Amino acid sequence: MATKSFDMIVIGAGPGGYVAAIRGAQLGLNVAIVEREHMGGICLNWGCIPTKAMLRSSEVFHLMHRAKEFGLKASGIDYDLDAVVARSRAVAKQLNGGVGHLLKKNMVTAIMGDATITAKGKVSVKTDKGTEELTSKNIILATGARARELPGLEADGDLVWTYKHALVPPRMPKKLLVIGSGAIGIEFASFYNTLGSDTTVVEVMDRILPVEDAEISGFAKKQFEKQGMTIMEKAMVKQLDRGKGKVTAHIEVGGKVEKHDFDTVISAVGIVGNTEGLGLEGLGVKVDRTHVVTDEYCRTGVEGVYAIGDIAGAPWLAHKASHEGVMVAELIAGKNNVHPVKPESIAGCTYCHPQVASVGYSEAKAKELGYKIKVGRFPFIGNGKAIALGEPEGMVKTIFDEKTGELLGAHMVGAEVTELIQGYVVGRTLETTEEDLMNTVFPHPTLSEMMHESVLDAYGRAIHF
Ligand SMILES: Cc1cc2nc3c(=O)[nH]c(=O)nc-3n(C[C@H](O)[C@H](O)[C@H](O)COP(=O)(O)OP(=O)(O)OC[C@H]3O[C@@H](n4cnc5c(N)ncnc54)[C@H](O)[C@@H]3O)c2cc1C
Repeated sequence: MATKSFDMIVIGAGPGGYVAAIRGAQLGLNVAIVEREHMGGICLNWGCIPTKAMLRSSEVFHLMHRAKEFGLKASGIDYDLDAVVARSRAVAKQLNGGVGHLLKKNMVTAIMGDATITAKGKVSVKTDKGTEELTSKNIILATGARARELPGLEADGDLVWTYKHALVPPRMPKKLLVIGSGAIGIEFASFYNTLGSDTTVVEVMDRILPVEDAEISGFAKKQFEKQGMTIMEKAMVKQLDRGKGKVTAHIEVGGKVEKHDFDTVISAVGIVGNTEGLGLEGLGVKVDRTHVVTDEYCRTGVEGVYAIGDIAGAPWLAHKASHEGVMVAELIAGKNNVHPVKPESIAGCTYCHPQVASVGYSEAKAKELGYKIKVGRFPFIGNGKAIALGEPEGMVKTIFDEKTGELLGAHMVGAEVTELIQGYVVGRTLETTEEDLMNTVFPHPTLSEMMHESVLDAYGRAIHF
């Protein structure tokens, strides 16, 4: 087969890769993208999207149980797990098809196969029909990541699941152990707990959702406990004894090892980058703890080789991957004024019930960095829309630099906060100060009014609390 030449080759068609490919094509580059499994990557097929579809089912289920509160009648409320999963898979399939369509529309050459870089500028792709050889001066690694497996706690798909198994569960867990309380662990804990699993979350750090502000973690913990979850912090699962339909977990907590039985375990202890088999060693691309080492422009140090998204390290978020994809495509196309992605301006969202969202520094981090700060807080109970929605539990917390008024961080827990956070993200990108936010008129009645009130509170001016 003849070697095909491109301006840019992207390996991996997740939210990092396919967005980079489209942006490159928009800028007039001749682009190829190689994907070995599914267009849209983990995000569309096994991550962001199917989890949100499942969480929507559990949210509606929860609201149906509250029908009486809203003057409605509902009886015989139940769920059909297979139908919940079928809906989630259909949503993922629809979006996966959409990515293929977008690539075609933008005249990107999409190749299904496994890619390896065989020499500088040379990519070999194993496809169903044989091997294709591609060349380009610019190669973007966007091969993503997969679930981390700890020795002794490996998934088997029956008793012990990764996120993939948890998205197509063989049964409804009766007694569920979730190991790890990052966004992935907590979202599955929330889903299964809402549908009736007796759920325990074990977190090795001193609090759940450990990357969030401590006050938000504490608030969320109380809500989860009210919903019946058991939360074990500063606790470590040391061993899993697998029996017939039963797992005995040895959990070290407070210096003692406790044994607890479960019928299902979800392991959500982080991810590892897909760096193997790409030919990185031969090229001299540096890898540190399964992630490709890059500079702020996603350059690997090897000329013409870039790495974006999950393979390039934290934060492991789809929007970070996409933004890096756009940035690198623009660099390759020779565009001026390309800005690096600032990690502290990337919002993190967890779609549990209640939702959690944040951007920028936590209170502890701001203090650690030496800022003198002003902190504002506003509770959902003081907001008319939250009460009308029947969602009075939650809070908005904002952190400002006392000296300059810069918005250093915003942290939220409660209904729809994953939609609200973007207001503060725009604020941070525009280098907004407390003055700009206070002078902004927020529509009434909306949950967004709490974003205003939290800022006012930081300066002793909150109206409704
Ligand atoms: C359960 C779950 C829920 C999540 N929820 C969210 C969320 O709500 N919001 C959010 O922002 N993030 C979420 N994430 C994280 C998000 O999915 C990732 O950050 C995102 O997918 C990273 O994008 P990527 O393009 O770097 O890699 P990926 O999406 O992992 O895509 C990489 C692609 O590369 C392909 N590939 C790998 N090696 C090769 C090769 N050698 N040749 C060809 N192709 C190859 C893979 O098949 C894959 O399709 C979630 C993740 C999980 C697991």
